[in-house]
Amino acid sequence: MASIPVSRLKGVGEKKTKALSEIGIETVFDILTYYPRRYVDRTRQVALSQLAVGEEALVLARVRRCQLRRTRNGRTLVEVDAFDGTGYLHVVFFNQPWRSKQLQEGTEAAFFGKLERFRNIEQMSNPIVDLIGDRTGRIVPIYPQSEKAGIPTWEIAKYVDDALSRAGDIFDPIPEDFLDKLDLIDRNSAIHLIHKPSSLTEMAAARKRLAFDELLRLQLMLVQSKVETALSSKGISHDVIPIFGNQTHTSRLNSGLFQPPEPQTARNGTDLVQRFFASLPFDLTNAQKRALDEIANDMRSPIPMHRLLQGDVGSGKTLVALGMLLMAVQGGYQGALMAPTEVLAEQHMLALTRLLKGFKAPGSSDLGLFAGEERELRVELLTGKVPAARRKKLLDDLYSGAIDIVVGTHALISEAVEFRNLGAVVIDEQHRFGVEQRAILRERSRSGHGLDPDMLIMTATPIPRTAAMTVFGDLDLTILDEMPPGRTPILTRWAKNQEQYQLVFDRVRDEISKGRQVYVVCPLVEGSERVVAKSATEEYQRLSQTELKGLKVGLLHGQMQPGEKEEVMDRFRNQQIDALVSTTVIEVGVDVPNATVMVIEDADRFGIAQLHQLRGRVGRGKFKSYCYLISFVDSEETNERLEALVKSTDGFYLAEKDLELRGEGTILGRRQKGRSDLKLASLAKDRDLVALAQVVAKEIVGGDPSLNQFPQLAHELEAFIGPDDTEFLFLN
Ligand code: ADP
Ligand code: MG
Repeated sequence: MASIPVSRLKGVGEKKTKALSEIGIETVFDILTYYPRRYVDRTRQVALSQLAVGEEALVLARVRRCQLRRTRNGRTLVEVDAFDGTGYLHVVFFNQPWRSKQLQEGTEAAFFGKLERFRNIEQMSNPIVDLIGDRTGRIVPIYPQSEKAGIPTWEIAKYVDDALSRAGDIFDPIPEDFLDKLDLIDRNSAIHLIHKPSSLTEMAAARKRLAFDELLRLQLMLVQSKVETALSSKGISHDVIPIFGNQTHTSRLNSGLFQPPEPQTARNGTDLVQRFFASLPFDLTNAQKRALDEIANDMRSPIPMHRLLQGDVGSGKTLVALGMLLMAVQGGYQGALMAPTEVLAEQHMLALTRLLKGFKAPGSSDLGLFAGEERELRVELLTGKVPAARRKKLLDDLYSGAIDIVVGTHALISEAVEFRNLGAVVIDEQHRFGVEQRAILRERSRSGHGLDPDMLIMTATPIPRTAAMTVFGDLDLTILDEMPPGRTPILTRWAKNQEQYQLVFDRVRDEISKGRQVYVVCPLVEGSERVVAKSATEEYQRLSQTELKGLKVGLLHGQMQPGEKEEVMDRFRNQQIDALVSTTVIEVGVDVPNATVMVIEDADRFGIAQLHQLRGRVGRGKFKSYCYLISFVDSEETNERLEALVKSTDGFYLAEKDLELRGEGTILGRRQKGRSDLKLASLAKDRDLVALAQVVAKEIVGGDPSLNQFPQLAHELEAFIGPDDTEFLFLN
């Protein structure tokens, strides 16, 4: 099917072949998987004589008159009168001049919209229009883009018909008993019913099966790669057990091969870890405990851990990471924590030094100690800034094992760093860290003992679970979905007009008079860094003369020298600046608890995730904090976005909303459009199906990544996902 050209179908000549290829249809297989965009359900058709104002309905009618003209303010207006045998329908289209060609006199069309009364005239404005030709059937499929290429939707339906009748029975690579269990129809029926359903229920069943297939292919690939890594690498069975009572290990892979050994009591006890958590002045959140137990289970298993830890800013990821490092250290292994920038590495170093002060690490005879003897736990910082002589000393001590935990930047993997016995690696990735880099890291960190260390990747950018399962499907997933208690919530408001804008700056002055500080984020402008900087400088000058007149105002943008930037931040931290006018450079890593107001200008230009990150710069101290979104734009899209932020400070809720509003394109990002693309499945709408696909993929792959038990499926996977696609998927 994949190799039979469409030209073999009835009615497809040279011209049509070309037109079809324009919309990406080359083969019979392509046309069978060219799915309808929507369906006209004739059973829901309403006679015009029955239609009432305010009702949304489907009307089938023939065009009697169609006219194109311009309104006074220059917009085009197409007016149509259509008749269905019982009454007339008046339809208007704004800014769609092409409708006058589409809806010529005599054309029969389906109009879907709401009947409204406008200046005493009943009409539909900008309804959905489908030309269904003389097709019969209760449910009429409407194919996408077909008009643009000059192929009416009923012609595609005809070709599909012919293709279906000649394709014979379509093979199903998934065994029947699987399908029964999953409540899925077989593939042959699904392909038929997606094109020619006799009810919407049948259509839904068909869609479910075909969407499942798309998701399963993706998951199979991810699980395959995960199992391959697991089989080809040997990890460390750390001597550790879960200590917070979450004994049920998350099933990592389904085959018996991968059952971790039954947790018994750990030989060395879980002393260090336990003592450390007991030393904290607060209780861990349940989410933190669950995360630590999941990590303990993974560390105990001989399969190297590859786990993604997702948690909103402030959810307490650092402590979870530190817990993991200590699990390694208490068994005599070393730990490494890698940050994306020097500043963040230094911040981590400060935090760790403070938290670990006075703790002991188990000694070892190599270090001239007797068994059982303990020594001070040693944490060191290794970045590009460290002077050569000191670096040499640090490298020596890492090699000998005298350093227990090292904190650093990418320098940790790019340098000739050799560990005595690295057991745990934490990567704090502010942004994305591709599979490729993870592989390099694994390679480099495979130290003397030849075993792969366990690896935890932390991210503060919430991604909806289903999307994470797809983009990071080769990693296990832990989500910190709970904030430590006692945070002061941030009040978010949207200023929609000049009057409210003034009120915002009243609040700004008020807070500053109370000794608090303020950020003002400049409008996002397109262009080079220089253009951005210029516009920020102008805004800084304007505000200094107007809304912020008489206050100590500072400016921060990306074009400033590093030293200059630090100086401004220092002055802000020391309260020598009241209000900091800034570009989005303050998005990450800035922590000034005394700042309580975040003003974001032209907020409609920012995405949800970015607004959420910016808002996270306030609410970091004991003071009530405020976030003001400034935007005078009134559109449905802006409304949805800004209202979401006003309504919620939950990063995961917002990420789901973002996915819903913008679609998967933004998350699957750089992935190439190709055969593996999701045509029917949606990560936002098919959450359950994504999860199901992952479970099934694990079941099918088991301990057999080459799919020997499912040769047809293996074959299909190869056909669908070329090596290029695989790479793109992993580069995210
Ligand atoms: P993240 O890295 O996820 O943004 P951090 O680990 O930096 O968050 O934690 C933010 C702050 O919350 C730190 O000051 C930390 O000490 C504190 N914290 C972490 N966990 C808890 C908890 N369970 N209860 C109270 N405070 C906590
Ligand atoms: Mg942190």
